[in-house]
Amino acid sequence: MQKIKKVLIANRGEIALRIMRSLKEMGIKTVAVFSEADRQSPHVQYADEAVCIGPAPSSSSYLNSSKIIETALKLHADAIHPGYGFLSENENFARQVEESGLIFIGPSANSIKIMGSKLAAKDAASAYNIPMVPGTNKPVTDINEALRVTSEIGYPVLIKASAGGGGKGMRIVEKPEEFAEQLERASSEAKSAFGDGSVFIEKYIASPKHIEVQILGDQHGNVIHLFERECSIQRRYQKVVEEAPSPVLNHEKRMAIGEAAVNVAKSCNYYGAGTVEFIVDEKLNFYFLEMNTRLQVEHPVTEMITGIDLVKEQINIAEGNTLSFKQEDISIRGHAIELRVYAEDPANNFLPDIGKLVTYKRPQGPGIRVDDGFEESMDIPVFYDPMIAKLITYGSTRTEAIQRMKRAISEYKISGIMTTLPFGSYVMDHEEFISGRFDTHFVKKYFSPENLKVNLDKETEEIAMAFAGNFFTEKNNNPYAGEIHNASGNSIWKRRYS
Ligand code: ADP
Repeated sequence: MQKIKKVLIANRGEIALRIMRSLKEMGIKTVAVFSEADRQSPHVQYADEAVCIGPAPSSSSYLNSSKIIETALKLHADAIHPGYGFLSENENFARQVEESGLIFIGPSANSIKIMGSKLAAKDAASAYNIPMVPGTNKPVTDINEALRVTSEIGYPVLIKASAGGGGKGMRIVEKPEEFAEQLERASSEAKSAFGDGSVFIEKYIASPKHIEVQILGDQHGNVIHLFERECSIQRRYQKVVEEAPSPVLNHEKRMAIGEAAVNVAKSCNYYGAGTVEFIVDEKLNFYFLEMNTRLQVEHPVTEMITGIDLVKEQINIAEGNTLSFKQEDISIRGHAIELRVYAEDPANNFLPDIGKLVTYKRPQGPGIRVDDGFEESMDIPVFYDPMIAKLITYGSTRTEAIQRMKRAISEYKISGIMTTLPFGSYVMDHEEFISGRFDTHFVKKYFSPENLKVNLDKETEEIAMAFAGNFFTEKNNNPYAGEIHNASGNSIWKRRYS
């Protein structure tokens, strides 16, 4: 067992700050690394020490593993926390960190290797009888064999890259005639994008929910789960809204999916914090998709409903301690929802809208948590993921968490760039979301730019009317003459009397 006294955080933005906050509470010193584009970032200011590790592109900075390890050694850190993204799921990095005598705050390089390949993960998990989506569990090499499998499971089918991630490397095939060509394309795309052309087939689940389970394991073989997160509100196969617990699982299903997740973790001798992802059909049958061997973006919703600080547990595990609680010690209290606030324009196909945060005012008050890595007047760099913040609300019930999210969105003031905040309002007000029945096709089925335009038009109309009102009311000495409000009642213009 080794006490950790100083940690280098090999990441940036909100997650670097979030990790440092827990370390500070534990009395552990922090080292930030940053690229030239992030010199003014809050994560750099917050750390006890900070070192510039290279130019803006990730390949020259946040992915420069030898520079990062060298910095950790030079500043006498005991451990490296990789956050999510960048080097967090790189088995070679985990190995190099350990070989240089530092602690990697995460699982073993071998667990990362197994779970980094969707096929190797399925193979490991199959020893524990984990339900899998019907399809092939080996790379597809023989087209005739593949066609036999697809006719058995029925169309549409999904061709997936074994090394795929972040919603990339998937193709839906609707008809057998299209299969051979799509297979060819999927394989060559996988080869160029991930350096591994292995692809496999899965039945395309028609109305799926994405439900994942948070697990924690120590280095002594104890693994527990911290219940599930529902992450079905997605665009481009990527999550935008997440919540815990799932509004559709009953106690029995919750325990069954939790147990399956624990077994997936055991199948690769997992330790640390990890997430086991499942796809769930309309009848609530669940199937193992993959495991993410790191802290997940959406981990705060689990922290809110369990009261457990996952970063502190990661440190505890990395120090070699046994888990400080058992499965039966953990329970769910209340409900939490997260909205990812991206610098994207939902009215324009969720394309990134990079620029300056001209106004940036966070919401406040009961049940609100904002994890972010920016301040007002900062630029969102083009080099990295365009997520500005995670807005998390907590309530004693799901209804209260939704109401709080609506209040928080109306209090959040961001100008200068388009964000996913108005999309968040749309989701919170939607009957299908409120019912909890929604699936991963929510955006495709219910959302169109028109939904936001209606609000915008209304807003424009109100501004016009207010202007007209001003013109008349000033003459009539109306007390409301000096202000214009937008649709949500915020003041957007004020007459200044001199
Ligand atoms: P990635 O590693 O790229 O995130 P996943 O396997 O986790 O890929 O899948 C990402 C998303 O793709 C899921 O959340 C779900 O929306 C969709 N998806 C994956 N597999 C299937 C399937 N067999 N049927 C229907 N949708 C799927």
